[in-house]
Amino acid sequence: MTLQDQLSTLFEKDSNVRSLRRRLDAATRRRDLQQERLAQLEEQHRERTEELKKAKAHASTLEGEASDSEARVKKLREQLQNTSDPKAFSALSVEVNNLKIQQGKLESLALDQMGRIESLTNEAGKTQERVAEQKQLVSEAETEIAEATAEVGDRLGDVEADRDRAAAEVPEEIRRTYDRLQEDTEGEAVCGIEEQDRKRMEYTCGGCYMSLPVQAVNATLSRPDELTHCPSCGRILVADTQMKEELAGR
Ligand SMILES: [Zn+2]
Repeated sequence: MTLQDQLSTLFEKDSNVRSLRRRLDAATRRRDLQQERLAQLEEQHRERTEELKKAKAHASTLEGEASDSEARVKKLREQLQNTSDPKAFSALSVEVNNLKIQQGKLESLALDQMGRIESLTNEAGKTQERVAEQKQLVSEAETEIAEATAEVGDRLGDVEADRDRAAAEVPEEIRRTYDRLQEDTEGEAVCGIEEQDRKRMEYTCGGCYMSLPVQAVNATLSRPDELTHCPSCGRILVADTQMKEELAGR
């Protein structure tokens, strides 16, 4: 077996693995995206809930202050009724009035705060709904992964073993080059040569469709135990059977 044959075999087995994996990978990617979105929504919900908690604490402080002030007013009014000293009466009246003004402010602040609590409660309810919906989407994506795994499962193990056997035939250094190219080209590391015009010796790369210099074509055909790359895209060029036969007849 020439190096080109070994690489062609490896490439074929690799493509089998890749096509089986594709559905599984796509399902996994979708699940990961849905999970990311869920984490964002949960964070949003956590923030809203935290804000709501603070707003409620603030409202209860305001209520406390208002009721303290009310108690104080009540006490001062009792003192007002029992005082006969005009100076003391006047001083107490001023204090009562000031307290009433302050109380009015506190009540208005408390009212604002109640409004804020209402709208935050509303928002927190919405984010909670969104979190629940998103959890449903994540769970659907998980089901899809489980289905894809069940469908592909055993076969994937077999084709992977097949691919590994084919890979073991290829010298390690060349396999590294091949793997890197597979990575870069998304599984299209190896390609054939396409003949455009034999008389004019016009050939193109089967991967990127750019024209190939005659030297690259000749190297591919005459040195099947060496790597020949397309000078444009870097893919590994192999001669298909038909081409080899034609070469033999030349
Ligand atoms: Zn190319």
